Amino acid sequence: MKKPFTLVIRLSFFFLFWVGVTTCNQNGSGEGQDTNSDVSAEQENLDLAFPDPYSSIKKLNFLIVGDAGTGEEPQKVVATGMHRVASKRSSAFVLYLGDNFYESGVTSVTDTLWKTAFEDIYTQSSLQIPFYAILGNHDYLGNEEAQLEYALTHPRWKMPARYYSFSSGLSPGDSIRFFALDTEMLLNETSDEAKNQLLWLDSELKKSPAIWKVVFGHHPVRSNGDHGDTGELVALLKPILERNKVTAYFCGHDHHLELIKPENGVNYIVSGAGARKRDVTLRKNTKFAFSGFGFVSVDVSAHQFDVTFHARFGNQIYKEVIGRR
Ligand SMILES: [Zn+2]
Repeated sequence: MKKPFTLVIRLSFFFLFWVGVTTCNQNGSGEGQDTNSDVSAEQENLDLAFPDPYSSIKKLNFLIVGDAGTGEEPQKVVATGMHRVASKRSSAFVLYLGDNFYESGVTSVTDTLWKTAFEDIYTQSSLQIPFYAILGNHDYLGNEEAQLEYALTHPRWKMPARYYSFSSGLSPGDSIRFFALDTEMLLNETSDEAKNQLLWLDSELKKSPAIWKVVFGHHPVRSNGDHGDTGELVALLKPILERNKVTAYFCGHDHHLELIKPENGVNYIVSGAGARKRDVTLRKNTKFAFSGFGFVSVDVSAHQFDVTFHARFGNQIYKEVIGRR
């Protein structure tokens, strides 16, 4: 009689273990380590108990906002909207899409902008969650190394490398994986570091068993905003996203919200209106566009990837349901 009870206890432990797990595979030096091996071993045990490995999948919600680092009123208002969504949906983390500090990045880890354009803005309890940050062109005008250094002592600020990948929150283990890019580096397309980053991305995407693969970078591949498409990324990055069946590419740089019609299965989403706004032109490939302040949230489960666009106070203005490929 003791055996089934013991099994239930063990399975509960494994389930709780997964729900809490967050793994981070950073790169930049080629020494990234995936710490997922323990999780995979535990997962085998649970798969034996549940024939459908996705039957126990947990819903995950996360927020996406970019170009937010002004420290001015609109950034605070958007933070209020993010709080409204995050507290309702229990958001697990934020993808923070670059141009984190206007006009010219931070000078050091003690720059007052850390306080005025980040810490004092996202103060709500629901936003005390990881911000997975990447560098934008404005960040490169300052001391970009300081943004990596800040992450070492401030757990909410996640920037383990200029480009990195992680899985988080959706069980089992690696059902969704995120790939963070340094697109400013990619614009210098003939440099060794650009080539290395693209090789890293292609190989990480190829080996990932994730149902959902999410890539985010500061510059758009596709956009109908002020900056528009980024030629270098259309030429070099787009084919990699397509051949590795990436679900969505999120970017900022242009200061509006937009969903581009999918190209070869990849959804291109602009969310660069976290503190500044700019006009967007409606073109043939525009599925939805909004030229006000706002942000994006995603609800993801084993079968659906729901992208919701929010205006600055958090109200929903558009929702797209993306199915599995
Ligand atoms: Zn930018």
